[in-house]
Amino acid sequence: MDSYQHISYWFDSLEDTSSLVEEIPRQIEVAIVGAGFTGLWTAYYLKKKSPGISIAVFEAETVGFGASGRNGGWCMGAATGMERLLYRDSTRGEGIRLQRALHDTVDEIGRVCQSENIDCHFAKGGTLNVAGTTEVAKRHREWVTFLQSIGFSEEDYRWLDEQESSKRIRLSRNHGAFYTSHCAAIHPARLVRGLARVCRQMGIKIIEKCPVFDYQPGKLVTGRGGVSAEKIIRATEGYTESIKSQKRKMLPLYSMVIATEPMTDEKWQEIGLANRETFDDGRRVVVYGQRTLDNRLVFGGRAGYYFGSRIRGTIPRDDKAVKIVESAARELIPALQGVEVTHGWGGLMGVSRHWRPCVSYDETSRTGWAGGYTGEGVGASNLAGRIMSDLVLAQKSDLTTLPWVDDNPRKWEPEPIRWLGVKSIEFFGDRADKSEANGKPSRIWGGLFDRFVG
Ligand SMILES: Cc1cc2nc3c(=O)[nH]c(=O)nc-3n(C[C@H](O)[C@H](O)[C@H](O)COP(=O)(O)OP(=O)(O)OC[C@H]3O[C@@H](n4cnc5c(N)ncnc54)[C@H](O)[C@@H]3O)c2cc1C
Repeated sequence: MDSYQHISYWFDSLEDTSSLVEEIPRQIEVAIVGAGFTGLWTAYYLKKKSPGISIAVFEAETVGFGASGRNGGWCMGAATGMERLLYRDSTRGEGIRLQRALHDTVDEIGRVCQSENIDCHFAKGGTLNVAGTTEVAKRHREWVTFLQSIGFSEEDYRWLDEQESSKRIRLSRNHGAFYTSHCAAIHPARLVRGLARVCRQMGIKIIEKCPVFDYQPGKLVTGRGGVSAEKIIRATEGYTESIKSQKRKMLPLYSMVIATEPMTDEKWQEIGLANRETFDDGRRVVVYGQRTLDNRLVFGGRAGYYFGSRIRGTIPRDDKAVKIVESAARELIPALQGVEVTHGWGGLMGVSRHWRPCVSYDETSRTGWAGGYTGEGVGASNLAGRIMSDLVLAQKSDLTTLPWVDDNPRKWEPEPIRWLGVKSIEFFGDRADKSEANGKPSRIWGGLFDRFVG
């Protein structure tokens, strides 16, 4: 039987990576497709709010096989698409409400982990969005000023000048940092697997190694036969193409990650991150890092899209794109000289056509979905799960009027337009980053990138 250890450092560090082959129910009230954070948080809150409800989660591989077991472990009080909501006068009020709900989400995850005894190495050290260029520094400073002008506090967001920022992290380029306290570093596989354990203890069935090939209102076609379900929720994020009726709804975008060997205290004094802050350097083609509880550096970068939305199950350590991420880490953190990289892997993020998350449930067909986090779903999926549980139970709440609700995107274009579109956006981002690294503002390339992604 496949142990799944190879899919990420996180999985490799788990004591148990086996799957549980449970009996499949033929009839269920709520069927959830996908046992990542979104599926499991939805199941968890549904069962908490309505203990008598019967729920089955169908998972093609094993719990946490997708992005939830492979990510950078930033549990952040942020999500894609927030800038637009906050900048526009017409949406600012709702944007602020959503932003505050995201802030609370980090604490909610910490609270559930504590009360349910899930040891996911949660450390709320905040995030250092280091400015790798003067242009990024300018943007970050303006953003902090703007956020404070609309009511957020110094505790929420503040600017650290070059000296202050360099005390906290030593990168090869450091022009100051945008700091937010609303982020925790976590071990994502411990969170997703711990959450599954709690869900099972609550009586939720999680059927692993059971792909759902397709579904229509009221029924699912799975690898182990048909299932009747009153309500069906899709939580398949970057893998949505695997369901026949759901093609072109989500674009699978890869991100690659490395983990170093555990480093000594002296090495960490050279690097910084004393509070296990997560960090990036503000480039558009994103990189991200965290210090793990066992003193490794986990560092990732966005890597791209394959023609036809091709999905690769696992990414090996020697993949070219993983090596590029390793070079980026070594270039950014000079103290990594002589430090061995022990793990390299990749994973799939889900991108919806409007590049922001959505939580949608249709009362008539009794089907719904949540996702589209574009690589920022560790925290956001908890909020999505709480929203979805209210929608499924038809309970009106402050959450069910948040801007994500029923903000359904249109479908992605057919190929080759899709591939050309994504490659163009990558190109704009890359050109803008290179130009700014050379000290030149990049209004055209940066403007084009932000127009599609910002
Ligand atoms: C490399 C990487 C780094 C990231 N870093 C961060 C980060 O640091 N912070 C952050 O906030 N976000 C990060 N993200 C994004 C974050 O991990 C995701 O947004 C989040 O985990 C999404 O959870 P999910 O449950 O919606 O999807 P997933 O975790 O992908 O789960 C979907 C599950 O559905 C299953 N599935 C799919 N299709 C079917 C089917 N047909 N039948 C049955 N099962 C199916 C899959 O096997 C999978 O287990 C990162 C993503 C990647 C790939």
